[in-house]
Amino acid sequence: MKVIVIGLGAMGSSVLYNLSKRGVEVIGIDRFSPPHQFGSTHGDTRVFRVAYKEGIDYVPLLIRAKELWYELSQERESDIFLNTGVLYIANHENDSVVGPLEVTKSYDIDYEQLSHEELVYRYPALRPDQDMVGFFDKEGGILKVEDCVESYLGFSRNFGAKLILDEIVLNWKASNNGIEVITESDRFFADKLIVSAGAWLTDLIDLNPVNLSIERQVNHWIDVKDKTQFSISELPVTTWEYGLENRSFYTIPDLGQGFKISRHHGGEITNPNDVDRSVKNSEVEDIQQLFESFFEASGVVENSKTCLYTNTDSQDFLIDFYEGNDNVLILSPCSGHGFKFASVVGEIAADLIETGKSKFNLTNFSFKKHKNFN
Ligand SMILES: Cc1cc2nc3c(=O)[nH]c(=O)nc-3n(C[C@H](O)[C@H](O)[C@H](O)COP(=O)(O)OP(=O)(O)OC[C@H]3O[C@@H](n4cnc5c(N)ncnc54)[C@H](O)[C@@H]3O)c2cc1C
Repeated sequence: MKVIVIGLGAMGSSVLYNLSKRGVEVIGIDRFSPPHQFGSTHGDTRVFRVAYKEGIDYVPLLIRAKELWYELSQERESDIFLNTGVLYIANHENDSVVGPLEVTKSYDIDYEQLSHEELVYRYPALRPDQDMVGFFDKEGGILKVEDCVESYLGFSRNFGAKLILDEIVLNWKASNNGIEVITESDRFFADKLIVSAGAWLTDLIDLNPVNLSIERQVNHWIDVKDKTQFSISELPVTTWEYGLENRSFYTIPDLGQGFKISRHHGGEITNPNDVDRSVKNSEVEDIQQLFESFFEASGVVENSKTCLYTNTDSQDFLIDFYEGNDNVLILSPCSGHGFKFASVVGEIAADLIETGKSKFNLTNFSFKKHKNFN
């Protein structure tokens, strides 16, 4: 069997690795040379969480994903996952702290609840509002995003995968003879196709009536004065919800590039081929203010980068064969929370391509479910 993977970001690089490791003949094609700065998979780090308020069905996938991230760390002989824990901070009635607690009723997850007083005592760098409490997901942490993709692509090459980089796929056709993929300068043939083109997915595939929205996000890094206070030895990942509109942001400790802080959602809807990649002064000022409001420390935004969320209306992933054709598999979009799953999504996709089945319940990720969502 021969397989082509279009798009070698988080999902595509992982499935390329999984298939090539199993001895499948596989070609991976990308319009850039991943990891790159133009899609959804860059910016040093990603948050990994297990007490997943987005849906209890995600938890078995997360448990397997974590095993696979540890396996990848062993294979590359250096850590790509740092188990710092993830601290959710919000009003005691907010879903950010109530939702994860619900998940722990069904799954054995190591966690701790923190009162407002415990929060500020344990983490002097934080300045939560008086009504805020904490839920500490001890199993969460940080993934080094570019290292993951580089490892997957490097190992795939060693396992015999062919990588075609800086080459745009223009079109593809499925017929009784198999799959034909047409790029700017060549044609490739295979038995099966995986389309993991992230924000560009609808350039290659008509998903109608499933709607995708591409959302511009900005990551910021703060040069903090007291670096120790913001290092992984002193602070876990934090996620916050605050105010009447429940706005949210998250922070990732300083691993040497600065203290990372970003809003989650609320970005402008854009087109991947026409993204405003400049960062406005107002966006930097907004983050500076956020930092000064919720942290007891001094620091200045020193670096900012844009990135793209590819959202479905339900915020669930889309992982399914295209229009019932079990030779064409769509992976992603992952609605701004997919990276942590990339390891298990690659394994799932390889199983689907090889056997047509997965051991996980993928109902929420099906075309049918997305078509019926309103
Ligand atoms: C700012 C930000 C923060 C995030 N934080 C988190 C987090 O903390 N935790 C988490 O779990 N998730 C997080 N996410 C989400 C996560 O990063 C994404 O879900 C994931 O990286 C998406 O991977 P992908 O493979 O679908 O897309 P991408 O990695 O963008 O890959 C798509 C690839 O397809 C290629 N391509 C597209 N069109 C073509 C074509 N025509 N021909 C050839 N190649 C093509 C592109 O070049 C690209 O390399 C975050 C996302 C952003 C933007």
